[in-house]
Amino acid sequence: MDPKLVENARQTLEAERARIRLELSEEVEHPRVAHGAQTAAATEVSESQRGQQLRERERQHLVQIESALRRVDAGTFGLCQTCGKPIAPERLEALPWAQDCIDCHAKSRH
Ligand SMILES: [Zn+2]
Repeated sequence: MDPKLVENARQTLEAERARIRLELSEEVEHPRVAHGAQTAAATEVSESQRGQQLRERERQHLVQIESALRRVDAGTFGLCQTCGKPIAPERLEALPWAQDCIDCHAKSRH
């Protein structure tokens, strides 16, 4: 694995991790206060459900990022977690948190 690619990936992963952590902590520290008329209640419920789904996705993304950073530290970054072959550099540049190569990824979707 090209050390420069790994270093770039680490920087991307760390920046992404910081962004998501900030986003998640802001939601906790400054919850959107529901205010206004009762007629808006239905809208507010669906707004908050959307917010929860979004946070859930961000949390899952954070798990993927942290796992990728552990692989950077362990020196196994860029190896497919399914077949153990190196993941294509183009794929890692686009998705540094990718856990599997494009072949395994395609198979897992069927
Ligand atoms: Zn694979």
